[in-house]
Amino acid sequence: MRLILFTLLFFSITVFPQSNYPQDYFIPPLELTPSLSGTFAELRSNHFHSGVDLKTQQREGFKVLAAADGFISRIKVSFFGYGKALYITHPNGYTTVYAHLQKFAPEIEAYVKKHQYAKESYQVELFPKAGDLLVTKGHLIAISGNSGGSLAPHLHYEIRDKKERPLNPMLFGLDVKDSTPPFVTAVYAYPIGDNSHINQSNTKQKLRLIPLQNGDYTVENIEAFGKIGIGIVANDRQDYAPNKNGVYNIQTFFNGSKSYELDFKQFSFAETRHINRLIDYEHYKEKKQYLQKLFNDNNPLSIIKPAINDGFLNIKDSTYSVYKIKVNDYKNNPTWITMEIKGVKNNSIKPKVKQTTPYFIKANQNTHLKEGHVSVDIYKETFYDDFYMNFEVHSDTLILHEDILPVKKNMTISYDVSNFTEEDKEKLYIANLIGRSKYPAYTSSTLKGNLLTARTKSLGTYALALDTIPPTIKPKNFKNKQWVSNYHYLKIKIEDTPSGISNYRATINGKWILMEYDYKTKTLTYDFNDGIVTNTKNNLKLIVTDNVGNSSTFEILFYRK
Ligand SMILES: [Zn+2]
Repeated sequence: MRLILFTLLFFSITVFPQSNYPQDYFIPPLELTPSLSGTFAELRSNHFHSGVDLKTQQREGFKVLAAADGFISRIKVSFFGYGKALYITHPNGYTTVYAHLQKFAPEIEAYVKKHQYAKESYQVELFPKAGDLLVTKGHLIAISGNSGGSLAPHLHYEIRDKKERPLNPMLFGLDVKDSTPPFVTAVYAYPIGDNSHINQSNTKQKLRLIPLQNGDYTVENIEAFGKIGIGIVANDRQDYAPNKNGVYNIQTFFNGSKSYELDFKQFSFAETRHINRLIDYEHYKEKKQYLQKLFNDNNPLSIIKPAINDGFLNIKDSTYSVYKIKVNDYKNNPTWITMEIKGVKNNSIKPKVKQTTPYFIKANQNTHLKEGHVSVDIYKETFYDDFYMNFEVHSDTLILHEDILPVKKNMTISYDVSNFTEEDKEKLYIANLIGRSKYPAYTSSTLKGNLLTARTKSLGTYALALDTIPPTIKPKNFKNKQWVSNYHYLKIKIEDTPSGISNYRATINGKWILMEYDYKTKTLTYDFNDGIVTNTKNNLKLIVTDNVGNSSTFEILFYRK
């Protein structure tokens, strides 16, 4: 019986070889030689990149093709994130995703506009039925763009399985030439145990990386004692593009035995935020650099493989060890980093002293903090570790520690605002004071009676902010009473500080019109192709509302024949 169980388990682990991914099923979605500005699962802010970013020569307007036969199963248009995105479900069970599009192919565009006009909203999420919008492999589905959160024109392309888990598109034969191995820009060592030390210090140490002629590295020899861990900053470049992308696989070996491995084949959206535990989060916040730990301190991420000692090294006194790191790209070009570690116990190094505060947060318990008119609710499993929190309230400013620890769940911040006038209460929001300028960034806030609450996944400094200034509205390419007969578009600039724009509504002669919003250029665009304008004299009315409800109304006349 035990033997059968073992066989089953073994089978279930090894049943997922590379050959199981269909190799010739999907064609590349662009008619360009695949070149990447982003690799699968590369490290991003609060998430792993869920697809590949295919470069489009720094411009919009390339044909986007269906990677295989199937039907459009989802269409999403949003201000942020993917912008305009299409999802195609294929008969083999996989779904391909195409994002940051400029526009959809005519039939799909008409389908989307019909729903946008029916809902009177630019932002829509649609789930067409299996027979509604069929697509054929290689046929035009959209035009590439730069919509949503995209910072430069490109096509974001994903392949997901039946459970909506993104997979590395390279596994399906998407071929990107890559003839050079990854490169490493930093190596750090962490003393983990209370009495651990590295190079006569009990704090994190930057190690000196020495590049070798062949592309590998050594590290200046280190002296250490106790339980330690290593972290690296590693990237890869593919051919045809200078972009600094992510690597594919990392393995470490301690005195010849494998001690850690992770690979970027597949992950689930439910676990993507654990990236903040994989990287040195404090280092990232300080230096904007993704320093990834090569040890697993209770991270549930599935891309980290089970390993002996979870990648930690136990360095004993009077020993000599060799530690090697192998970083691979998808094309199996390896880069090796070798370091020699001398075990030297130094009794003169004092153990680490933990800074304490009156607020000891236990990760597995709910916590309620309150001072004066401010309270914070933290649910269990919000943090990975127990820690002493810095919690202070000075009039309307809340110091909720520092944004140096990863947060898994929303925390709730509440302010009693009974000392404000009824009028002001409506215009208040809870602001996260960001950066050196302490800009009062809007945190979605709701008022119930005298209680203003916001939910957040960031530690840091918060304060009450009052926004009484309505948004500004300025036409960009036309003036009042202008003839615009030859125009294809009307463009209007909308801006709001400090709380930001929440929504807008535009009409021409009383009829709702679709205006596309690009938050990066702060521009609303109306496309005359919509066919709404049939009169010569037209009145365009635009109402823009900010996040606390201040609104501006703007009216302008234009003529067209
Ligand atoms: Zn992308």
